[in-house]
Amino acid sequence: MSREYEGGCHCGAVRYTCTREPELTFYCHCKDCQKTTGSPFSVELMIADEGLAIDGPLESYVVQGDSGKPVTRWNCARCGSGLYLECAADPGYVFLKAGSLDEAGWVRPEMHIYTSAKQPWTNIGDSLPRFERAPDL
Ligand SMILES: [Zn+2]
Ligand SMILES: [Zn+2]
Repeated sequence: MSREYEGGCHCGAVRYTCTREPELTFYCHCKDCQKTTGSPFSVELMIADEGLAIDGPLESYVVQGDSGKPVTRWNCARCGSGLYLECAADPGYVFLKAGSLDEAGWVRPEMHIYTSAKQPWTNIGDSLPRFERAPDL
């Protein structure tokens, strides 16, 4: 099944189209996702980077990921919405934030990662696999 889906930032300056199915979809409870989203977790779609066509003013910054390798986080330069990130540990992929999709009802998270950082008031009500940190993909 192929699917094309679209999304963008909150102010509308950045828009993207994706032409690849996600390789993996997951809840990430890590502290970086908590800080950058202002929420207890983020839902991320791992997509082959050639499947993402993005247009608009972007800004980025780099932090060190749990792998010890750099993680580049890309935001709208105007409104600051987080859109996707690139992990040097996973070359060739981007991690798109499900909350930036125009229509995200089809998204099917497959696992929870970084549950070691999960807030005690976040109740996981499903039986999906849980990983304390990142799984080996
Ligand atoms: Zn924006
Ligand atoms: Zn995370």
